[in-house]
Amino acid sequence: MTTADTSTTSQVTVVTHPLVQHKLGLLRDVTTTTQMFRQLVNELTLLLTYEATKDLADEEIEIETPLEWTRGRRISGKKVAVCAIPRAGVGMLDAVLSLVPGARVGFIGLFRDEETLEPVEYYLKLPGDLPVRDAIVLDPMLATGNSSVAAVSAVKAAGARSVRLIALVAAPEGVERLQAEHPDVTIYCASVDRELNERGYIMPGLGDAGDRLYGTK
Ligand code: URA
Repeated sequence: MTTADTSTTSQVTVVTHPLVQHKLGLLRDVTTTTQMFRQLVNELTLLLTYEATKDLADEEIEIETPLEWTRGRRISGKKVAVCAIPRAGVGMLDAVLSLVPGARVGFIGLFRDEETLEPVEYYLKLPGDLPVRDAIVLDPMLATGNSSVAAVSAVKAAGARSVRLIALVAAPEGVERLQAEHPDVTIYCASVDRELNERGYIMPGLGDAGDRLYGTK
């Protein structure tokens, strides 16, 4: 399905809104500074979160304005849990929390073994009430899909009511892997790039998201 601002195929929604694509271009640029990179990740995540939360259940409520009573809407039930994969996923956290301040936060600590490219779990702390929450997993680079699959599996094992994944950039290999393992999870991203290279980096991509966010190398 294609609308003005998104292009959706099965479980992948690529947000094609000009603001998103403009900021993605800046994010890819090798000359973008660390400070600017962090700001762009925040802004892009805000825009992707807007899209990723558009089908959250809501309900009608009565609101008293200073002038009269009217009807409005509010998100119903226990709402959202946002689960970040450190290190780079943490760079996306504030953006989600600024839009959904009541969200509970979880962390799924995984690092990528650079030889096998397999994820190794070193930390897991998730909200205790996940069965009454919709989970948003934050993994900026959906590369091989190994980390995302492991993170989604952990969130599902803890009973999340539903799971969405927000990535900044995805590789076709990662999308395929996640869809094969978790066909119920919708992916929201700014781009599905060309391919992975032999080192597991997304091409053209934006390099190592963690290094660019935190100025390490
Ligand atoms: N992780 C990154 O930070 N960048 C990639 O291209 C792939 C994985």
